[in-house]
Amino acid sequence: MRRVVDFHCDVLCKMTENTTMSFLNDNRLDVTYERLHQGGVILQCFAIYLSERWGQPRFEYILNGIDVFRNRVIPVGDGVEWLRWKDEVNQISNGKPWGMLSIEGADGLEGNMFYVRTAYELGVRFLGLTWNYANWAADGVLEPRNGGFTKKGRQLVELCNDIGMLLDVSHLSQEGFWELVEMTKRPFIASHSNAYAICSHARNLSDKQIQAIVAIDGRIGTTFVPMFVKAGASVITPRDLIPHIEHMCELGAEKHLMFGSDFDGIESWIEDLEHPGKYPKLAELLLQYYSEKQVNSWLSGNALSYLETNLPRRLAINN
Ligand SMILES: [Zn+2]
Repeated sequence: MRRVVDFHCDVLCKMTENTTMSFLNDNRLDVTYERLHQGGVILQCFAIYLSERWGQPRFEYILNGIDVFRNRVIPVGDGVEWLRWKDEVNQISNGKPWGMLSIEGADGLEGNMFYVRTAYELGVRFLGLTWNYANWAADGVLEPRNGGFTKKGRQLVELCNDIGMLLDVSHLSQEGFWELVEMTKRPFIASHSNAYAICSHARNLSDKQIQAIVAIDGRIGTTFVPMFVKAGASVITPRDLIPHIEHMCELGAEKHLMFGSDFDGIESWIEDLEHPGKYPKLAELLLQYYSEKQVNSWLSGNALSYLETNLPRRLAINN
């Protein structure tokens, strides 16, 4: 089976809200241990997203997300391996699925740089700067004033550059995006966003943004959120992803594309692409249009090469 890397899902949020949910094989979840196997998913990024329903965002909720991952995801089945270091990337194989942690929105870091370091020490490797609205660090993409970074947000970027916390611009405002292009010392990613030229949703990337990500050798996770794929259609099919992929390739992003499904963060699905077990069907479809080499690079190669280059090196202190 073809190997797949998926750069965004929200299963931890659902499991946090409902302590009876099991990662092993619970049909209330899109992403489960079984379906990772079924879909050939060798690496899944698990986002820690603090729901607006929980009130004031607190660091405690981020710790809770890490705890859910450690205690209710890592040990299930034959175990999920936890990816944290550069030297682990070449150990990822078809055997056990691997997982890594991201934070979706800096809100819960409470403007506290000690919390940022702590999250990193506890194994979080990606930070999405905002969700849709403004937080202490920057404005999100649906914040009407379209502001960029605050002074503290700039300190946050500097700290992340220093310690090797990688940044994610999906949900970040336009202004924030361009400020980050100036500030960043490491290539960043857009973990779950499509092409605005194909579907004009604010969460998608403009041509200039796509080209900027290519220029810094970042990555873009094509996403399965129906309203970011095609506007105004009652049924969306996997074939509707092709124009996004095609357009991004035309802009030079062939070696920068990957996938970030947003499974468990969505309430409607692309038909026949409702969970990770469907990845082999998507692969089959892509092969009708593109070469083996291209399809494999989008399913896993581009994501793995990014991680191999950009994940931090393990220090003696971490052994
Ligand atoms: Zn999201």
